[in-house]
Amino acid sequence: MKALKDRIVKDGNIREGNVLKVDSFLNHQIDVNLLDEIGKEFKRRFEGEKINKILTIEASGIAIACIAARHFNVPVVFAKKSKTKNIAGDVYTSKVESFTHGRVYDIMVSKEFLNPEDHVLILDDFLANGQALLGLSQIVKDSGATVVGAGIVIEKGFQDGGKLLRESGLRVESLAIVDSMSVEEGVVFR
Ligand code: 5GP
Repeated sequence: MKALKDRIVKDGNIREGNVLKVDSFLNHQIDVNLLDEIGKEFKRRFEGEKINKILTIEASGIAIACIAARHFNVPVVFAKKSKTKNIAGDVYTSKVESFTHGRVYDIMVSKEFLNPEDHVLILDDFLANGQALLGLSQIVKDSGATVVGAGIVIEKGFQDGGKLLRESGLRVESLAIVDSMSVEEGVVFR
């Protein structure tokens, strides 16, 4: 997606540890017009698929999922990151190792909001090692619902997540795939 790639080049900042900061339009301040274009592009890519729910993970996924959901006309469910071991109530849970924070979270979704009849599109901001997508896919599978695929705004193609997930049979659509990035050479897209 050209507008997204242009924006990454213009406003993205490359940080130590293979982290791409896009706080000025995606992760802190949000450019809702760009998100609307992103939502439209996800809709175009998954056109013809039966999707009745979008699943994402707090916090950065929520805005992306909500604007995309307007194009799909479906509700959004977001997985909560639990900081306690005592997860209350009737929930599906999974463990996710955070790439940016280097710690393991339990993520959870209430059983009320995922059912075996659901056809779920998973959306997230970044794909790095694939832990977040794996955790979300596991939750959908545990609920008996169907994972239709995953839509990612920025995939870091030099990390293993995309390969791992595609090889496992998951359809992953990434709007910008970064093949390499460095302060000297900037961001190189696939
Ligand atoms: P994964 O689970 O695929 O290793 O990492 C994906 C998650 O980590 C995303 O939900 C995202 O929040 C965060 N993340 C991974 N890499 C980056 C990055 O380069 N920049 C930012 N801003 N977030 C990232």
